[in-house]
Amino acid sequence: MVKTVIVGGGIMGMSSAYQLCQRGHEVTVIERSTVASSASGKAGGFLARDWGNAVTRELHEQSFKLHEQLSKEFGLKTYRKGLPTLQVNFSSKSFSDLKVNWINEEIGLTLFGNSEFAQVTPYEITTAFLKHSKVLGANLIIAAVVGVEFQNSTSFQKNLKGVYINRSLENSTDDLELIEGDNFLFCLGPWSALLESWFPGFRIPMAGI
Ligand SMILES: Cc1cc2nc3c(=O)[nH]c(=O)nc-3n(C[C@H](O)[C@H](O)[C@H](O)COP(=O)(O)OP(=O)(O)OC[C@H]3O[C@@H](n4cnc5c(N)ncnc54)[C@H](O)[C@@H]3O)c2cc1C
Repeated sequence: MVKTVIVGGGIMGMSSAYQLCQRGHEVTVIERSTVASSASGKAGGFLARDWGNAVTRELHEQSFKLHEQLSKEFGLKTYRKGLPTLQVNFSSKSFSDLKVNWINEEIGLTLFGNSEFAQVTPYEITTAFLKHSKVLGANLIIAAVVGVEFQNSTSFQKNLKGVYINRSLENSTDDLELIEGDNFLFCLGPWSALLESWFPGFRIPMAGI
């Protein structure tokens, strides 16, 4: 069985864990705090099928569909689709006859009321991924990943042997444990920049999309 180690228990890490468990991987998730402790437990959970640019459009559509499908499968209580959605237009009154009693009249608004918008509480869906991944055999370790070990060269593409974890969650380098695997997936959210110090020559491509 392919051993896959996922670092980071946000929605990226936990949804990947669930999908990989379903494809027969032996999954270990390493999270330094608690699952959904960061953005994935706090965000607005607003989902817009069409608000992506050309590069990510297909991904948006796929993700929008998957949120609906998985919310049904998991029995999530907070998923809702077809939200009337207001967008503020600072420059113009797009719909002068649109009145919303809690927004000043001089502010221009566009109302979207179609099925292209949905929302789910991110904490609920991220922790549901954890629950269902565990049922499929995933293992969760609460520890900070503090470094990586290569097999015999520093080429991270083929030769990553494992990640070093610190269960005490402090910066001490004592008592480090090596968690080995065949595949590694780093889903560190804003902490992903750390990867640049672990993988020589690797640069995180940061861009707004
Ligand atoms: C206020 C706010 C509102 C938002 N609203 C929306 C919205 O309405 N719709 C939308 O689509 N998106 C929204 N987002 C964006 C969305 O929340 C994020 O894009 C998404 O949650 C990122 O998930 P992630 O798994 O990549 O990262 P994170 O949720 O940040 O997870 C990363 C995890 O990695 C762990 N970690 C970090 N370093 C280590 C380490 N060394 N070892 C082990 N674990 C580590 C962290 O503890 C964390 O749990 C919002 C974000 C914010 C902040």
